[in-house]
Parts: sequence; structure tokens; C-alpha cells
Amino acid sequence: MTTIGHLINGETYTDNGRTQDVFNPATGEVSKQVALASKETVEEAIAAAQAAFPAWRNMPVGKRSAIMFKFKALLEANADKICELIGDEHGKICHDAAGELQRGIEVIEYACGAGEFLKGEHSKNVGPNIDSWSEFQPLGVVAGITPFNFPAMVPLWMYPMAIACGNTFVLKPSERDPSSTLFIAQLFKEAGLPDGVMNVVNGDKEAVDTLLHDKRVQAVSFVGSTDIAEYIYTTATANGKRCQALGGAKNHAIVMPDADMDNAVNQLLGAAFGSSGERCMALSVAVAVGDNAADALIEKMKVGMAPLKVGEAKVKENDFGPLITRESQERVVGYIDSAEKDGATVVVDGRKPTVDGFENGFFVGATLIDNVTPEMDSYKNEIFGPVLQVIRAETMEEAMQLINDHEYGNGTCIFTRDGAAARYFSDNIQVGMVGINVPLPVPVSYHSFGGWKRSLFGDLYAYGPDSVRFYTRRKTITQRWPSTGVKEGVSFSFPS
Ligand code: NAD
Repeated sequence: MTTIGHLINGETYTDNGRTQDVFNPATGEVSKQVALASKETVEEAIAAAQAAFPAWRNMPVGKRSAIMFKFKALLEANADKICELIGDEHGKICHDAAGELQRGIEVIEYACGAGEFLKGEHSKNVGPNIDSWSEFQPLGVVAGITPFNFPAMVPLWMYPMAIACGNTFVLKPSERDPSSTLFIAQLFKEAGLPDGVMNVVNGDKEAVDTLLHDKRVQAVSFVGSTDIAEYIYTTATANGKRCQALGGAKNHAIVMPDADMDNAVNQLLGAAFGSSGERCMALSVAVAVGDNAADALIEKMKVGMAPLKVGEAKVKENDFGPLITRESQERVVGYIDSAEKDGATVVVDGRKPTVDGFENGFFVGATLIDNVTPEMDSYKNEIFGPVLQVIRAETMEEAMQLINDHEYGNGTCIFTRDGAAARYFSDNIQVGMVGINVPLPVPVSYHSFGGWKRSLFGDLYAYGPDSVRFYTRRKTITQRWPSTGVKEGVSFSFPS
């Protein structure tokens, strides 16, 4: 059986230590093993990144961009293979994997413009014959720790920008679906990236803790669940590192009585059940304003959900695939059970889907639950499965209060025809990414991605302009050449 290893200093290898099973979630069978890096192996990767840093930092930015352009071309040329690897281990349907990859490629496109975003700031004659400028210098070795649900895109949110800024990188991907992530990193080497600039260590807590405690690591980018994000943030910052840690979500859509209900239903179907709801931007709660809107929504959702197909990744007619593990499947079914026990109405029940030929896969069918209330565990927690819960509110204010009171604040959306209501909503909602008739308002690569409240620990968002600030530090230089004629005597007062 194949063992997926690490990429350190340009070499791919396993360290003969601990391993973990990787599953085909559609069959429920173990398909591969992944090596779990020891502390020593991670330290080797950090040392390789540290050694590669001086030369990489000094490589002219245009040359760095040229490698980035080749990397993008290689990803496009290998897109089918990457999507197949994602499908085999994550279970994501091929068209959905292609979308994830495309969004990752767009970050590389932005990173290709490093010459532009690293230009710095210059001011002439800030004093007599004195010029001043700010440079954005790389930090050194930077680490990334990523979740299972976007094995291509989320790592690509991080390392192209960090590396374009002149840093070197150690990535610790999810141990549950590591193959596509490793394959993409190997393509970066093929594009001409010098050895040691990009390293991948597969592993678990031991690898993560090594990265968090090693003095050579200057900054940590994390994406994953909230409790782990908080742990990463507090540990990394206590160790003097810069940290951005993106966490979990509970994204609400408000459905106003004036909404184009057919459109809202189509959008909700994709945003709630696409990728089996295993997206941090999935819409998992619909707040219908008024009983008429709620009843219409439920009736149309039932019709829209009837033909949905859950199945294996390779069949492009399937709408979504299995969950990542048996434990995830059990967790999602457990939340549906608990909502029912707490008095909610399971309108469409996906707990026992029929998937011919894949009886042991980790499947849950699309599920719709009505009459959910804020006290229920299924509402308070992130389910991360193909479950849409409906809450009935009497007014838009009440609907917005629910969102503002929730511990998460990643994404949200309003479906309405009323511009003034939409404007009020986007202005006052306590959420980082807002859609107006757009269900998955994932910012494009030249903006930045991040949530509010317990969906993000740290100050700067992922990719886009915020990532340039995150992966660089400012140095401001003030210069005078006395030979230009200005000579001053001793002064003990503060320069003004
Ligand atoms: P996870 O938190 O279990 O794992 C994320 C990473 O942390 C993995 O690399 C894992 O190996 C590591 N990790 C897990 N437990 C750890 C521990 N105790 N100590 C140190 N490291 C540990 O998340 P997941 O299940 O892989 O991904 C799903 C979660 O990620 C969901 O909560 C989802 O909302 C969130 N997510 C958020 C965003 C965002 O942008 N906010 C994007 C994608 C996913």
C-alpha cells in the first residue's frame, strides 16, 4: 500500500515512523497510508527552509514571478489529475474539485504581481535633502497548517503569497486527504522553485506543535476548526510568532418575504449541500422572515431537494459526495437526531441514503430541518454536513440579531429585492463576508478572506492585500547624504 511522505528540501520521502490510514470515503475502505512526521523530521524541514531563505529573499522579484507563472501553467495542465486525487480522498465531485482548484490558481495569479505589491512607499524631501521610504521585507520561515475540506485551495491561499513575498515555507496539510496537496507542491518544484523554499510535512499534533514552538518559524497561518484555531493562535503568539488562525462557521442566509424565492432556493441548494456542506462558507441556516416566506421556502426546497444525487466523486452527474470520515458521518447524523429530539421537524431526512454499490461509504443525504430554535445544539454548533436548518423570525431585525448573537461570523447572505434592506444588512451585520443575493461570498483573490468573532483569531485575513502585510514586515529608511551640502551641528532637540 502506498505511503504518502513529505517534501523536504526538494526530496520526497517517508521517515519510517508513525503512519495513519487514508480512506476512500465513497467505499469506506483504507486506500493509502500517510506518514506522520516526527519532531526531528519537522525540524529538518524548518532547517531546509531556513537555509533556502537568504538566496530566495534576494532573488529578483521578476524571477520569482516567472516561477509563479510556470507553476500556474503546470496546475492548469495537471488539473484532471489533481481533481482525481481530491476526489479519491476527499470524495468531492470532480466539477466541484475543479472549482476549488481554480480559486487556488487565482491566488497564484495575484502572487505573480509581486513586483507591483512589493513596491513599497517613497517620500522625497521629508526634510531638507532627506528622503524616506518603506520597504516590505520577508519574515523568513513561515508555516501553514490546513484543513481537509479544501486540500488544494486553502494551502494555495497561503504559500504562493508567502513565497512571492520572499519567505520560505513549511506546510502541514490535513492528514486525511494529503495526496493532492503534496502533488501540487511537487509541481512547484517542477516549475523551477529552488529546493527548500517550499516544504511539506505530513503529520498530526506532534508536527503542528513543533512548528508552533520552533524559534526559527516567524509566522503561522492556520485554517481549521475553531477550538484548534484558538489553540494555534494562543500558542503561536505566546511563542512570539505572528499568527492568523481562521476557524469554523455557522453561516446564515436571511430569506426576506420579497425575495425571488425560486432563485433563493436554487442558491440555497448549492450553498447548503454542495461539497456535502463541508465548506466553511456553506449556508447551514436559513432564517425566513415571516411564516409565508418560511412555508414557501420549505415547499420549494422539498421539490428542489428531491432529485439531488449523492454519490462517488468520479460521476459528474452527482451533486455531492460522501463525508470525509465515519466519525464525520456519525457526528452529522447525531446532530439531526438531536434537533429532532429537541423538537425541530425533520422535513427531508438524509440519515439513511441509498447509494447503490457504495453501501459502506460515509454518505449522508441532503437534509432539511424546520422549526429550529437558537437553544438547540444543532444550531449552536457547526454541523459541517449536508444539513440546512430553517429558523422562523418575525422581522428582519430579529433575523439579524440571531446572526449577530452567534459565536461565529464567517459568511452570511440576504435574499431580497429591497436595496435599502440589503444596504442596512451589509452595514450592520457582525460578519466578515457578506453576500447580497450571492450565497457564497468568497472574496476574489485580489481582496482578502476572513471572518469575524470566533471565525478568525488574528488581525489580517488570508490572501490578497492583507496577506502581503501578514507575510512581510515594514522597514522605513530615512536617508541624507551630507555631500549634498547640508551640514548640521550637534542638536539635542527632537528632530522636527
Ligand atoms: P481541524 O481543526 O480538525 O484540522 C485542521 C488542521 O489542524 C489539520 O492540519 C490538523 O492536522 C490540525 N490539528 C487537528 N487537531 C489538532 C490539535 N489538537 N493540535 C494541533 N493541530 C491539530 O479541521 P478540519 O476538520 O480538517 O477542517 C474543518 C474545519 O475547518 C471546519 O471547522 C471548517 O469550518 C474549518 N474551515 C475554516 C475555513 C475558514 O476559512 N474559516 C476554511 C476551511 C475550513
